[in-house]
Amino acid sequence: MSEDCIFCRIARGEIPSATVYEDETVIAFDDLSPQAPVHTLVIPKMHHADLADNVSDAELAAIFAVVPKIAEAKGIAQSGYRVIVNNGEDARQTVKHLHVHVMGGAPMTHGMIDFADD
Ligand code: 5GP
Ligand code: ZN
Repeated sequence: MSEDCIFCRIARGEIPSATVYEDETVIAFDDLSPQAPVHTLVIPKMHHADLADNVSDAELAAIFAVVPKIAEAKGIAQSGYRVIVNNGEDARQTVKHLHVHVMGGAPMTHGMIDFADD
């Protein structure tokens, strides 16, 4: 656990969040600034800065096992959804606690890379 990590604080219940799913390993909650009609984050309860920070196979399995459950609960299992991990600087990871974005509820574009500075 990290004292001042925002997602650790959510996992501890110190910061309110719209919880979608919770078990002993992971918690899922709606993103504060949704970028799709459905935008839910899944995190391990233990603090890991990113995918390279000693994440166990069991945690990874638990995180991804929850994704289709969220999709069912949010009504986007049939229409489809995007699952994203922003890992590190180029990916613009802003919260340094591993999290998986589950986004859906509307058709998306294929776009990803910002070539604006080229
Ligand atoms: P990143 O850019 O690091 O992949 O995504 C971090 C996400 O966390 C952003 O989509 C942002 O809106 C969300 N976020 C940041 N702070 C909070 C918070 O306090 N509560 C919730 N529910 N989401 C947050
Ligand atoms: Zn944390």
